[in-house]
Amino acid sequence: MSKINKLEIKQQIEEKIIKLKDDINKLTDLTKPISPDCAIGRVSRMDAINNKSINEAALRQKKTQLKALEYTYNHLNDPEFGLCIKCGREIPLGRIMLMPESKKCVTCASR
Ligand SMILES: [Zn+2]
Repeated sequence: MSKINKLEIKQQIEEKIIKLKDDINKLTDLTKPISPDCAIGRVSRMDAINNKSINEAALRQKKTQLKALEYTYNHLNDPEFGLCIKCGREIPLGRIMLMPESKKCVTCASR
């Protein structure tokens, strides 16, 4: 893989990490414990609890994605970067750009 491509990927990952951290901050705010003193009423409290679990799931997902991205970012210069961990073939650049956290080629990932 050429150096220019790696630079492009690096920038893409940086942008994604910034966005993810922003999302994680917002979601962390939204998943703060709901206070038991029911100033918001019973029904809206149920809503708040429902929303909270949705947000918590989203938060978990974003954190996983962030970890994967940071991992990719730190391993951009590894000789095996961009190679499928299963078959060893080069992963198409478009795929790495779209999901840099992916370590398998499309064929192996869909198996
Ligand atoms: Zn593969």
